[in-house]
Amino acid sequence: GLAIATASGAGAQTAPPPSDATVDARVDALLGQMTPEEKAGQLSQYFYFTQSPRLATAIERQMAAGQVGAVLFTTDPRLVNRAQRIAIEQSRLKIPLLFGFDVVHGFRTIFPAPIGMAASWDPALVERSQAIAAREARAAGMHWAFGPMVDITLDPRWGRVFEGAGEDPFLGAAMAAAQVRGFQGPYIGAPGHIIAGPKHFAGYGAAMGGRDYDEAEISDSQLHNLYLPPFKAAVEAGAGNIMAAYMALNGVPAAANRWLLTDVLRKEWGFKGWVVSDSGAVASLVTHGVARDDADAALKAFRAGTNMEMIPPGQSATMPAVAAAVTAGTLPVAQLDAAVRPILAAKIRLGLFEQPYVDEARADAVMNDPAHRVAARIAAERSAVLLRNDGAVLPLDRTRLRSLAVIGPLADAARDIMGSWVFDLNHPQARSVLAGIRAKVGPGVRVDHVEGVRIPPRLHPSPMAALERNKPAPPPLDETAGIARAVELARQADAAVLVLGETQEMSGEMASRATFDLPGRQRELLDAVTATGKPVIVVLMTVRPLTIHDSKAPAILDVWYPGSEGAEAVANLLFGDATPGGKLPYTWVRSAAQLPMTYARLPSHDPAKADQRYQEASNAPAWPFGFGLSYTTFAYSRLTVLTPKVRPGEPVSVTVDLTNTGSRPGEEVAQLYLHQRLGEASRPVRQLKGFQRVALKPGETRTLRFTIAPADLRYWNAAQRDWVAEASPFDLWIGGSSAAELGGSFAVAP
Ligand code: BGC
Repeated sequence: GLAIATASGAGAQTAPPPSDATVDARVDALLGQMTPEEKAGQLSQYFYFTQSPRLATAIERQMAAGQVGAVLFTTDPRLVNRAQRIAIEQSRLKIPLLFGFDVVHGFRTIFPAPIGMAASWDPALVERSQAIAAREARAAGMHWAFGPMVDITLDPRWGRVFEGAGEDPFLGAAMAAAQVRGFQGPYIGAPGHIIAGPKHFAGYGAAMGGRDYDEAEISDSQLHNLYLPPFKAAVEAGAGNIMAAYMALNGVPAAANRWLLTDVLRKEWGFKGWVVSDSGAVASLVTHGVARDDADAALKAFRAGTNMEMIPPGQSATMPAVAAAVTAGTLPVAQLDAAVRPILAAKIRLGLFEQPYVDEARADAVMNDPAHRVAARIAAERSAVLLRNDGAVLPLDRTRLRSLAVIGPLADAARDIMGSWVFDLNHPQARSVLAGIRAKVGPGVRVDHVEGVRIPPRLHPSPMAALERNKPAPPPLDETAGIARAVELARQADAAVLVLGETQEMSGEMASRATFDLPGRQRELLDAVTATGKPVIVVLMTVRPLTIHDSKAPAILDVWYPGSEGAEAVANLLFGDATPGGKLPYTWVRSAAQLPMTYARLPSHDPAKADQRYQEASNAPAWPFGFGLSYTTFAYSRLTVLTPKVRPGEPVSVTVDLTNTGSRPGEEVAQLYLHQRLGEASRPVRQLKGFQRVALKPGETRTLRFTIAPADLRYWNAAQRDWVAEASPFDLWIGGSSAAELGGSFAVAP
């Protein structure tokens, strides 16, 4: 019952969207007046902020000269208006600027890390959340999100696992499409919405070793079956923009990859928007060794299908080289026009020629809409994954609890609760888990806190560190004494909550890790506190599968980075005012040494056979993909394949009964997995092909129906270099994780 309807209209009187013909005619009229240099200007996007007055002035001069098509990183509405005024009042053709920004998991109101949003397995929730992010961003003058990030990854050492939906293409595609719908609303230019720019096209999640910016070597089969589907889903959902990745895909840098940007994206998928390079990815074609110099890089990127260059602060545009080629007669002007066209069209559809400015007075009211905070809390609750709850330690009973020890380096870390990609370092909404617990229990319960140990700083500072230069260093901590103190507090308390994990700067961009160990002495702290025998609850703040399954802690709750309302959400979860229902969007490996490991390619889901590969270590994950507990229990029964035999092209229908067998209401994500038994290629042991998040009262049974679309029985066959649908028997399973046991089968036969 949340009034998210406000997210789209905001009560504004709006004209219906212009027809394609009207937009085309207006674009033609503009193009007819533009010089090649002005056209190249539209292909250039600059960072614009006033921290460096010298850079800002230089860019303002470019704006006045009609050399800037878009800017990024300007989030203050007054600065938006200032820049827009320069473009409109001083440039010859008065073409307004496009403002882009990394709207990753909220704008002012911060939602959980996207990987956590994916763990909700709730596309409608994800769509509503990004609609709110869009509404806030648009109110501040943004027109375009560099998102969603839809890179599949099998390697959570990669820091950007934070931004994606995990390891699975089916879940990833659902999350990609939901986010595009949320950002863009019903059509491009819809009031209160912004254009979506799915990234990083394509294959960035396969960066070697999980090292940011490294190359990706992806087989043809993996590319089509694993990495591309979320992009295709995003394009089908109408995404107006795409960002080309930094890295080289099978040797060819994405920004100069004609096959990706033109053959697949435009010709095969019919993408009509514009492609922006990642920051500096055009000039870096020189570093990659595929371009002689900047001019050569510009032409290579342009010819491959890059429409716009994102230019890092302090660097100059390379796209003027494209204008020079037109003037020299070596590039047809029609090609330049075709590249500029979707950018001008976006500006027209957004209504920028009519209303270029943003209402500075209204922006704050939109940012502080209480409905947005409620939505953020619900999202944080629904994204949490309960990994272990031995002896039903959770939820804590507020009526019986007298004292609680809240321990750990992240317990009182308000900044970290927001996660990466939040640039407001003193975010007014940031509150710690400790504060949330104190507010929840009130004065009747004694809450003691000790940090215990500290998470050591990174070996190489994060790119954000520059922004935090003036932050005072915390006083040194005696960690041995801290652990002793934590043990003492735990002994005196009825229960201990340990908030552990990684600081926010340990994931996101340029934030890869080589291990999944709890950083610093956190493990020692955890083991010491667990040894007291008191009920210990670990709240994990991380986006990685940290190595913790071998701890004896009876309860482990992963809350990712829960965002603006994380404090209240976590307290609600701990005390049973909310029930965890999230499920893992990736395989939780036992250690980074097991990577890559995906449920789709586990040698067997039969535990007896799974342990035969490594001689000194387990082959089973700590927790499988799709896993997550609740405060209640669920049972699956009566799986019925309604269509045991189908012809090619026909859908498959299955029903199953789901029962809440516990004594509390709860939500379960029912998951359907398939296996094609026979094919020209060896098919994954399991593939997710359906899911539903269902709320059930205690004792309630619901019959769920799954329909598998014929398209979901196809796969890319590398030998035939095409999508194929083969006649075969199929196995299927439905259950609460990828290790689901209840199965059935059907056959596709001509
Ligand atoms: C990142 C992109 C981001 C861009 C602008 C790049 O370094 O890879 O994901 O959108 O910066 O912030």
